[in-house]
Amino acid sequence: MTISIRTTVALMALAIAASPAPAQSSPPLSPLTRQFVVEDHPVVVLRHVRLMDGTGAPVRDNQTVVIRNGRIAAVGDDAIVPVPEGAPVHDLTGTTVLPGLIDLHAHQYFYSSVGMTQMSVSGPRLYLAGGITTVRTAGGQMPYDEINTKRDIDRGNAPGPRMMISGPYLDGPGRGPGHNRRLETEDEARRVVAYWGSEGATWLKFQGSVSRAVMGAAIDEAHKHGMKVTGHLCSVSFREAATLGIDNLEHGFITNSDWVPDRQPDQCSPKNMRIQADVAVESPAVDSTIHELVARHVALTSTLSVYELFVPGRARLPEEALVMMAPAARAAAQAELDTTNAGPGFVPVRLFDKMMKFERRWVAAGGLLAAGVDPWGTGSLPAFGDYRNYELLVEAGFPPVDAVKIMSANGAQVLGLLGQTGTVTVGKRADLVVIDGDPSHSAGDIRKVRWVFKDGIGYDSAKLMASVRGMVGIQ
Ligand SMILES: [Zn+2]
Repeated sequence: MTISIRTTVALMALAIAASPAPAQSSPPLSPLTRQFVVEDHPVVVLRHVRLMDGTGAPVRDNQTVVIRNGRIAAVGDDAIVPVPEGAPVHDLTGTTVLPGLIDLHAHQYFYSSVGMTQMSVSGPRLYLAGGITTVRTAGGQMPYDEINTKRDIDRGNAPGPRMMISGPYLDGPGRGPGHNRRLETEDEARRVVAYWGSEGATWLKFQGSVSRAVMGAAIDEAHKHGMKVTGHLCSVSFREAATLGIDNLEHGFITNSDWVPDRQPDQCSPKNMRIQADVAVESPAVDSTIHELVARHVALTSTLSVYELFVPGRARLPEEALVMMAPAARAAAQAELDTTNAGPGFVPVRLFDKMMKFERRWVAAGGLLAAGVDPWGTGSLPAFGDYRNYELLVEAGFPPVDAVKIMSANGAQVLGLLGQTGTVTVGKRADLVVIDGDPSHSAGDIRKVRWVFKDGIGYDSAKLMASVRGMVGIQ
């Protein structure tokens, strides 16, 4: 059976006239945003696709997805789902459709040895081009730049993913980076949390050497305001943070200080992120930590792709990612990768293997695992780092449908958005990725993104990518 790619203009006009007014709250798109749009009819049919729906269900062939007014109106076998009369029908034989991906460890900044810049333009376009329709920033160096970007995207003025903002990094009184908000007292923590809540942050991110008392006060205040808290921890261990009520932990195995010998309360030991190389993943101590965290419903964010760039022999970037960087940023990233590959490296191979094994054990124990890219000066970039996360989750041993679920439904669940997005399910927002190929058979096909739908509007991935070549490290 063949279906024409497009019906006539006359029929499309009829479909628009016959459709109810768009239910989506999306405002009109600016000319800038519109230049990346390939499909914005109120009713759209994606025909003959292979479907990985984000729930972990088996791959289904010969599927039809109908988008109506920004929502998924129908999903099912080609033979069963009726094609609405007059709607544009895209014959997508040979493609795979995934739910829009969700990145829980986004940053708007790009920090390398040549300095700190904001990816105010390049970041959102790369995320969207890579199939990421929702991001949560996990610490900002210029949080107002993130808030302004989010407004531009929400108002249709710029292309990009739906953003959840986490405000500035929260830290302890030590000597953390100067852009961190250093918190010394519980009162101060409550005031800062409430302030960022009033400014639109829905998450907060701890980093470094905060005390348990201050973190506990911040978590309590955040929850009072309906906000959630995550952390790249050191001075507070995973178990301690879980007891304090933290919602999410970044990076997994490598950052947990529960197993650091002789650790002092509220102190960040320099042994952390190194000692884990000698910790047995299959051990009662690790299992006991996993079980306590799972029982307390703490979610974990996998960031394998960024850590791989610190592993000797594994630290490399594809040319497609390198060309997105400005010359100075690219040279700095390449120098860092060369240093890693020449030396012992910050993350030994055996530690990286343990990080992957830990994530399998975490999920096997019922833990909620999501993923994020953690863009960084070594060249971990939006989209490209997310693609690599998918490949690494599959390499770690997750079935491809589960790797998709980790990067979509699980992220949505952590963000409290699973009722709206994260799976290809009738009634949800039409956040969809169309891939030329089959990432369920060849993980690398995840890189072949053709179109990305956000709220039912289809964007051209290649055009978004082309528009920001050489821009990372500048804007
Ligand atoms: Zn980060």
